[in-house]
Amino acid sequence: MTDGCGRTIDYLRLSVTDRCNYRCRYCMPEEGVCKREHREMLTLEELAEVAAACVGCGVRKIRLTGGEPLVRRGIVELCRQLRAIPDLRELCLTTNGSLLPDLAAPLRAAGVDRLNISLDTLRPERFAQMTRLGQLSDVLEGIRAAEDAGFRDLKFDTVLIGGFNDDEIADFAALTRDHPWEMRFIELMPMGPCADWDRACFLSADTVLERLPELEQIESSGVARRYRLPGAAGTIGLISPVSHDFCADCRRIRVTADGKLKGCLHSAEELPLRGLHGAELEDAIRRGIAQKPARHHLSERKSDTPRNMNQIGG
Ligand code: SAM
Ligand code: SF4
Repeated sequence: MTDGCGRTIDYLRLSVTDRCNYRCRYCMPEEGVCKREHREMLTLEELAEVAAACVGCGVRKIRLTGGEPLVRRGIVELCRQLRAIPDLRELCLTTNGSLLPDLAAPLRAAGVDRLNISLDTLRPERFAQMTRLGQLSDVLEGIRAAEDAGFRDLKFDTVLIGGFNDDEIADFAALTRDHPWEMRFIELMPMGPCADWDRACFLSADTVLERLPELEQIESSGVARRYRLPGAAGTIGLISPVSHDFCADCRRIRVTADGKLKGCLHSAEELPLRGLHGAELEDAIRRGIAQKPARHHLSERKSDTPRNMNQIGG
């Protein structure tokens, strides 16, 4: 369906948990999530019901996210259920990759079409420092497991952070020479723990174009401007929510793990869906879509949401 601004809304980001086995410094506080009662969170049945209702309202693509979606017990069974929803065209998942060694093959068998793997650095010490709890070797093993399981055209999401990983832009890009992957650089958004970070941490994605003048522009895909190194097997994507906002073309809604529909990642507006079923649930979703905010205000000030990213679903 279309929202109040005439945008077609056909993409749901569904968060299945706010928990995570990592504590990336820009995303989560060191102590983790404030423990919420299990009963405050959507059950697997409720997640499937909300997903089906969103498809009933015109959603054709669902991306599961979190927190770390792969720490949610029952995730594979949930994927199987979602894949069986008639009219759903694409089921994707965004993960930090660490649990893929065990889960890539079952997720593929359950019908997950595509994976995005978040990877902010290729250097083991930096990786441990940024994720606080993670080891790069687990993610590298996860990537191999994803390829062995048959996931093709993997996409990697790298949050560009000035003074942390901007000296690795060429290293990430070099991976596209031999792999048919898309390496995507995403601007750090000022929210949650990083809202007050030094301005120098917030780089425009155009920094990548300055560092790699040999990049050739190719067709865009969704919100990503895309480029290729001459002769490379893979591509490079730039996602610029701050410097070139894509609000006018936004097709997304989000549902948080505690059952709130959000029309915009950066808005404080939330519409509770828990306890609603059937026509009531679909009516609420249609209302949420109709009221989707026209745009965010990241370029003028920080995000309006009081939630950290892991509590929304990136
Ligand atoms: N745990 C999974 C992962 O890391 O891929 C899924 C959830 S995570 C919140 C989704 C994405 O949001 C990750 O790629 C992460 O780097 C990104 N992210 C988190 N906080 C961000 C911020 N302040 N600005 C830009 N991206 C952010
Ligand atoms: Fe966890 Fe993903 Fe947030 Fe990192 S970015 S703390 S992996 S939810």
